[in-house]
Amino acid sequence: MSNNWKNRVDAEHTRREEEAERMSATEKERAMEIHRQRFKCHVCGKSSEKMIEATAGGKPYLIGYPDDLVKCDKCRELTCEEHIYKGICKTCAEKL
Ligand SMILES: [Zn+2]
Ligand SMILES: [Zn+2]
Repeated sequence: MSNNWKNRVDAEHTRREEEAERMSATEKERAMEIHRQRFKCHVCGKSSEKMIEATAGGKPYLIGYPDDLVKCDKCRELTCEEHIYKGICKTCAEKL
């Protein structure tokens, strides 16, 4: 029973780690929700589902910028892969 207090500390550490993981998952989900509302294709309105991920100090973090939408060369609007061709969006292509 001499190590009982150490087991308690171990259990406390595990509990804290689990809590931190749960927190970050919720935070990530919340960030994604804001991201979806903020970044949409201006042609079809499809929300971005991917954020650009970067690493700082060995820890990955999300840059608040879409990874699946690109800016049109002409109007600079965010466009999904489906509605951009060679850097020009469908809307601008129709005006060419
Ligand atoms: Zn689109
Ligand atoms: Zn355009």
